[in-house]
Amino acid sequence: MLLRRLEAYGFKSFAEKTELEFGRGITAIVGPNGSGKSNISDAIRWALGEQSLRTLRGTKMEDVIFAGSVNRRPLGVAEVSLVFDNSDGRLPLDYNEVTITRRVFRSGDSEYYINKTACRLKDIHDMLADTGLGRESMTVIGQNKVDEILSSKPEERRLLFEEAAGITKYKQRKREALRKLEDTGQNLIRVQDITSELE
Ligand code: ATP
Repeated sequence: MLLRRLEAYGFKSFAEKTELEFGRGITAIVGPNGSGKSNISDAIRWALGEQSLRTLRGTKMEDVIFAGSVNRRPLGVAEVSLVFDNSDGRLPLDYNEVTITRRVFRSGDSEYYINKTACRLKDIHDMLADTGLGRESMTVIGQNKVDEILSSKPEERRLLFEEAAGITKYKQRKREALRKLEDTGQNLIRVQDITSELE
């Protein structure tokens, strides 16, 4: 599945609306230190739903919004869209092109969109589960990540294999089903209490 295009506005150093087209094959991004190369991979991670501030190299989610420069005022919103070529149908949507958009405001409100239709973060995670772009994926390998994987605990490393093997989705669904069972169990106990009080 090819990432065709990245569009960013107000994300970290991208104060202007910026569009990057990716062709087939290898794309290399070069530039001086601090020019924003890593901000591009941060933007990809972020739009895919990354929640970890450490991974995004920030301390609060607001840090992803353009904070201003000598000549420019800070912005109030950050938005990143990733346009995927889905002609191979890897994403479970009936479209040849799928756009994932994430937007965050300084108030902390977040919005997610799939093909310009508002959705939940969960919908994005569900759509990406088992495509290799999911939460624990190795799609974006940052500096020090290789060392981190080699020195990670076996349980942490197992998560990577589970994502690659395509079972993460089922584990997620199992967790949700168990939670619903637990809620239903609690409700049953409450109903039993009420009926015994009434008897
Ligand atoms: P290196 O080659 O040293 O790894 P790089 O090209 O990968 O550098 P990045 O780390 O992507 O650079 O970008 C860092 C730049 O992004 C810094 O100049 C920093 O001020 C700017 N930056 C990060 N967050 C924001 C923000 N919220 N608002 C404005 N600028 C930001």
